Amino acid sequence: MNKALRPAVIAGNWKMNKTPAETSALISEIKPLVANADCTVIVGVPFVDLSEALEAVKGSKIGVAAQNCHWKESGAFTGEISPVTLAGMGVEYVILGHSERRQYFGETDRSVNARLTAALAAGLKVILCVGETREERESGITAEVVRKQIKLALQNITGEQLKNIIVAYEPVWAIGTGLTATAEQANDVCAIIRACTAELYDNAAAQRLTIQYGGSMNAKNAAELLAQPNVDGGLIGGASLVAADFAAIATAASK
Ligand code: PEP
Repeated sequence: MNKALRPAVIAGNWKMNKTPAETSALISEIKPLVANADCTVIVGVPFVDLSEALEAVKGSKIGVAAQNCHWKESGAFTGEISPVTLAGMGVEYVILGHSERRQYFGETDRSVNARLTAALAAGLKVILCVGETREERESGITAEVVRKQIKLALQNITGEQLKNIIVAYEPVWAIGTGLTATAEQANDVCAIIRACTAELYDNAAAQRLTIQYGGSMNAKNAAELLAQPNVDGGLIGGASLVAADFAAIATAASK
């Protein structure tokens, strides 16, 4: 982390877990534990839990994220959720391009760019996920893969809009597997993303960009990962469902 240059952000991705009632209960547990955290704390909950989450975070600094949104404001897209609807509810953030969306729901760099463009236009802040598969890492093409994902996701996004984007580097092989990138691997790829952003915009924009690491981050390994100069926070799946573990990561990011 380099808090002099950019805010540290700890975000939970609850995925398809928790009912509305369970969401209220878990946020009530998290709230006092992160009350003094010196970092931005966000919970990413299922769509149908957003109302309860927004209610439950009142009186705290916890932000609420949706886990996806559509690329149109409205229309004949049965089952989809508009970014305008999310913003209208008071949702502040949306996670886009998560590898599970890419892997199971056919999302591409192009559709991620379209969703991101619409989300920003609606006034949402975006957590943009990128990362290589195990096969890509073993083939030595991690840098190319991640640079391509960043370039395509950020197509036609202005430097001003970039201020509302957080990037999450999430090696696919580390998500939900218990395998974590080493602190050095995480830092190296976050640095590649920052350099790519400098090429696309300028150095000042790249230095301002918060880049999280995600992939089996937990209460034990968070401090080492967050000590890296280019790792500015975490996107956390499994460990974000346990209040004490999530809070411990936020505490590690508060140092
Ligand atoms: C994620 O879902 O973004 C994630 C990083 O999951 P986990 O922490 O469980 O690996």
